[in-house]
Amino acid sequence: MQTQTLTVDAHAPQAAVLTAAADVIQRGGLVAFPTETVYGLGADALNPVAVAGIFAAKGRPASDPLIVHLADLDQLELVVAELPPSLAQLHDLVPGPLTLVLPRHARVPLSVSAGRDTVAVRVPAHAVAVGLIRAAATPIAAPSANRFGHTSPTTAAHVLADLAGRIDLVLDGGPTPVGIESTVLDLTSPTPRILRPGGVSLAQLQARLGAVEVAPRAATGAGAPDAGAAPTDTGAAAPGMLERHYAPEHELRLVCGAPDPARAWLAAQVVALTEQGVTVGVLLCAEDIARLQPLLSAHTALIEALGSEADLAQIAHNLYAALRRLDARAPQVILARDFGAEGLGLALRDRLTRAASGNVTWLGDGPA
Ligand code: AMP
Ligand code: MG
Repeated sequence: MQTQTLTVDAHAPQAAVLTAAADVIQRGGLVAFPTETVYGLGADALNPVAVAGIFAAKGRPASDPLIVHLADLDQLELVVAELPPSLAQLHDLVPGPLTLVLPRHARVPLSVSAGRDTVAVRVPAHAVAVGLIRAAATPIAAPSANRFGHTSPTTAAHVLADLAGRIDLVLDGGPTPVGIESTVLDLTSPTPRILRPGGVSLAQLQARLGAVEVAPRAATGAGAPDAGAAPTDTGAAAPGMLERHYAPEHELRLVCGAPDPARAWLAAQVVALTEQGVTVGVLLCAEDIARLQPLLSAHTALIEALGSEADLAQIAHNLYAALRRLDARAPQVILARDFGAEGLGLALRDRLTRAASGNVTWLGDGPA
């Protein structure tokens, strides 16, 4: 299969491009498109054959359910069996990087939900994504547009690096603004439950819903075995939250803790590893790089910058692209640290922990 790329205006998508892409969706094909979080790999959510194509192209296990993307909340009734009252409190976060797990309508193929009686839905805040869903006149199931387990794509080039020759079309709308995936919130559990931290923070949800639980795996990015084995167990941690995920080719070691002790740990690792002849790469914020610069230069560490830790949105925006760039420079070991658990910090910690395949050192008290 030849993968076609069409350039599209991220803010005012050209009607002809959307029509061409919608045509592929309606014929049961696969279209990668930008959302505000990461690039999605879309297919008609109501066509089981098209949905099977997503799993095949990504090499994604059938136990890992897909998020269904809608143009607006009015489309909820197409895919959701029953709307919980708590939904009304979340309207100002929609559209946005928030995925809701709700009772699945029988119209949605079981494969979309990996056999569950729930369905995950989201309204993306991106003109291309919404324009495509409207033009296709159907909800679009779309996981991240990468090979299963790889780092999620935030540019069309990232999509092509993983999926060229395996999908019909990529809409290139430039880099995605948020840069990490949506928050997955289960509204079918007795207390609303974050299954995956993401672009909407715990505090934002608590402000609207009161009590909100965080699934243990979502708090630390690691822990219990994958819940994908229990198709009807909707209360369990999010399926697909495999420990090794968003992973670079090269080994990543993560340190979690306050900035000063974490920097001391990083410095000691750089010294120890280079003394062993290991090529070290570091994925760090600007403040860390400024403080560690002499040591990093002396040990010829490969450096990728994430931006200032005063702006976690910038760090989220840069994370996956910087990880891919560093990985391409082939360090034998990549070192990184976390950015706390406030706001986007929880989601950053989750993605870094899983990119590290659980290779995490906790300084101080460990996960809260
Ligand atoms: P991705 O689109 O690749 O970011 O992955 C979608 C993720 O959403 C899955 O891996 C799950 O963690 C979560 N998810 C999707 N559907 C459900 C569901 N019905 N119940 C719980 N979690 C879900
Ligand atoms: Mg994914």
